[in-house]
Amino acid sequence: MTEPGTTRMEHSQREILVATTNPGKVRELRAMLGDEVEWKSLADFPGVGEVKEDGATFAENARKKAMGYAGATGLWTLADDSGLVVDALGGAPGVNSARFSGARAKGADRKVVDQRNMEKLLSLLQGVPREKRTARFVCCLCLASPEKVLAETRGTLKGIITEEPAGVGGFGYDPVVLVPQLGKTVAEIGEDQKNAISHRGNAMRRFEPLLKELLASGSGTG
Ligand code: IMP
Repeated sequence: MTEPGTTRMEHSQREILVATTNPGKVRELRAMLGDEVEWKSLADFPGVGEVKEDGATFAENARKKAMGYAGATGLWTLADDSGLVVDALGGAPGVNSARFSGARAKGADRKVVDQRNMEKLLSLLQGVPREKRTARFVCCLCLASPEKVLAETRGTLKGIITEEPAGVGGFGYDPVVLVPQLGKTVAEIGEDQKNAISHRGNAMRRFEPLLKELLASGSGTG
C-alpha cells in the first residue's frame, strides 16, 4: 500500500497495475519479471469500472485497457489481449476468441465455454485438410502511464488445428492446437514448456528488457 504522504510520482515508478482480476496472470508476471516491481491487480481496485474490449485488433484492445485503467488509477498499467487466429477462417476467432460461441465465461463456467468454443472451431473446420488448418496464438502487451503508451510487444505461437482435442493441460483452445515441431497439442505439454514457447511467454520476454530500461531511466515519473 502507498504510505500517507507518498506522492503519486514516486509510487508510479514501482507499483504497476496488471489489468486483470485473474490471479494466475499476476503470478505468471511476477515469476517472469521478478519482484523489482510491486504488482497490483484489479482486485486491489474494486471501485474501478470495466474498460470494454471492443477494439478491432489485439494491439488496440491491449492499448485501450492499459490507457483506460492507467487513467482511472493513476498507476502505470500493463494490459494484454490474446487469442487464436485461424487462417482458413479469415483470422477468426481473433479478438472474439473468448466469446466465440456466445458470452465470455466467468469463473467456474470457463471450462464449459472453452469446450463450446473448441467444438464450434472444429465444426467450422470440418473437411478442411491439414495443410490449410494453420493458425497462431497471438498476445499483445501494452504498458501505459496515465499520459501515454510506454511499451508495446507482441508474441505468437504457430500451430495446426487438430481434428480432435488432445491433452488436459492449459486452457482455452490448447487441446486443439498442435505444435508441429513437438508433435503434441499445447494441452499435452507442461506449463514450463508452454511458457518457453507460447505467445504470452514470447511477448513477455520482449517486454522484460523494455520495462527494465524504463525503470532504470526513471521515466516512470511521468
Ligand atoms: P482474453 O482474456 O481477452 O485475452 O481472451 C483470450 C482468449 O483467447 C481466451 O479465453 C482463450 O479462448 C484464447 N487464448 C488466449 N491465450 C490462450 C492460450 O494460451 N491457450 C488457449 N487459448 C488461449
